[in-house]
Amino acid sequence: MAFLLNQVFHSYGLRLCRIKILILCIFTTFFIGCFLSFASINSAECNCNTAKISSIKISSGGHKLGVVVPFRDRFEELLEFAPHIHKFLVAQNIDHTIYIINQVDQYRFNRASLINVGFIIAISEGCDYFVMHDVDLLPLNPLLSYAYPSDGLFHVASPELHPRYHYPSFVGGILIVKREDFQRVNGMSNKYWGWGLEDDEFYVRLKEAKLKIIRPTNLTSGVKSSFRHVHDRVWRKRDMAKCFNQQEVNRRRDRQTGLKDVMYQVQSQHTVIIDNASVNVINVALKCNRTLTPWCLCSEENKSSTANFGKVNRNQNVKNKNNAVR
Ligand code: UDP
Ligand code: MN
Repeated sequence: MAFLLNQVFHSYGLRLCRIKILILCIFTTFFIGCFLSFASINSAECNCNTAKISSIKISSGGHKLGVVVPFRDRFEELLEFAPHIHKFLVAQNIDHTIYIINQVDQYRFNRASLINVGFIIAISEGCDYFVMHDVDLLPLNPLLSYAYPSDGLFHVASPELHPRYHYPSFVGGILIVKREDFQRVNGMSNKYWGWGLEDDEFYVRLKEAKLKIIRPTNLTSGVKSSFRHVHDRVWRKRDMAKCFNQQEVNRRRDRQTGLKDVMYQVQSQHTVIIDNASVNVINVALKCNRTLTPWCLCSEENKSSTANFGKVNRNQNVKNKNNAVR
């Protein structure tokens, strides 16, 4: 009898044990299943651009760089520029925000006024220095520094390295400026509609304020491999028209206009992710004082025949070692 009872209890205990194991298995499968599904959601999230962007660790000494790009109708260049400059700056641990200042009014392109607007926006968002940056000029040599300049302004696209412009007073292309220096010279002139000379006028402002222009030294990459200038002169024509008395006025230092009086309206702002780079596209409508600068629109009959004026001047600069703007 005792033997029989023992058998019954034994088989009952075995069944209980099996049931327990079965329940344990069901729970384990359930938990593993849950874990895997959460894990896969998380890894899918990690693939998204925002996660990549926010995970970048930056230590740039408390400084923040605003990358200000004067822009209109250069979409293909932007697609290449944004991820390139973002990667380039991350490699240098530069805390930065990219601002594409997109001119949306009907007037001729005004690089200097767009830079003034970009500066105002970048500073209002906490940048303490900025770089005015052509969208079609890509730095290639990692030694080209975008760090906060300890002294003066830093001209990254130096005439010794720029693929196209080699005259000594050239300050175009890529120029790093501290907030207080840009404010000190009242930014850039607002009188330059169309291509050219606005950077030369800015050079005169810097000279008058006795601000130092520092340039990269000891780089062996030279004019051929320091930058890539993504610019086909036929596809991306430069607007060299001159009308009314533009030619005469644009050759003189402008003491009238600048950062303080740039007239514009921000029409909209958009955050756009290009590959892994986040850019702020600011649609800006510039306003034109038609009495002061009637050449913000050149009708066909008002255009002068010296359409190549800008180019000629730049070449003269090389010969005379003189600036065209006085
Ligand atoms: N730009 C633009 N749209 C234009 C003209 C100029 O976006 O229609 C901007 C762009 O950032 C460009 C910069 O202004 O890189 C300088 O113009 P451009 O390339 O014509 O001058 P370059 O230095 O090649 O003579
Ligand atoms: Mn260009």
